[in-house]
Amino acid sequence: MPDKLVTRGLVLRATETKEADYILTVLTAEHGRLSVIARGARRRSSRLAAACQHLAFSELVLYRRGNWYYLDEASTLTLFDGLRADLEKLSLASYFAEMTEAVTSEDLPADEVLSLLLNSLYALDALDRPNELVRAAFELKLLSLSGYEPLLADCAVCGEESPAEPLFDAMQGVVLCRKCAGPTGGVPLDAGALAAMRHIVGAPSKRLLSFTLEPASLARLSAACETFAAAQLDRRFKTLDFYKSIKLT
Ligand SMILES: [Zn+2]
Repeated sequence: MPDKLVTRGLVLRATETKEADYILTVLTAEHGRLSVIARGARRRSSRLAAACQHLAFSELVLYRRGNWYYLDEASTLTLFDGLRADLEKLSLASYFAEMTEAVTSEDLPADEVLSLLLNSLYALDALDRPNELVRAAFELKLLSLSGYEPLLADCAVCGEESPAEPLFDAMQGVVLCRKCAGPTGGVPLDAGALAAMRHIVGAPSKRLLSFTLEPASLARLSAACETFAAAQLDRRFKTLDFYKSIKLT
């Protein structure tokens, strides 16, 4: 008998394959990232169709045969309709999905990462927060949950807890005061951006965005988190390039 698995999952990627099938890349809390074949799901009459959409979050009944899971039943919990109607938000959500796929793996539980992703998609879908704030918080928190947590409590050289003119060293993942940074420097922060980074690293996903920032501090936070993601993951994301090509602000 094949193994049956009942779980909740979010579709990170849906790839069309032969005839009317999809191969889904699905993130689950208990089993991490799974590859799931959805037979016939591209037929208009398929009862699996809704749950096979990119970024759909659903209750799934799966069967395992060999190396593959097959989707047997699905009941969609949310499709995040609000972000699908906004190309900028949808492109940012696609980047979140691509980045999540890059840092997760099969059979390694991903409950915190799934919670982060769901809360970030909800923020884009229903909360009126700046896209750049949601993006910076997602990048920094995802990296922190994936073994790249930066050390932000004090200057990595002199130990000053309130570094003057703080800089973020994205390669080392540390904060430095200006006088300790030396010629290599770093991404310039300010007190607000540094406080926001400390909050994001320490907060549970549900309270991730429980802070406000002046526009100048948000710009610095955004630059620091983007540079950190690029430095630590050492790859480009085509979804991020697309988001940046269309974003308005
Ligand atoms: Zn220092």
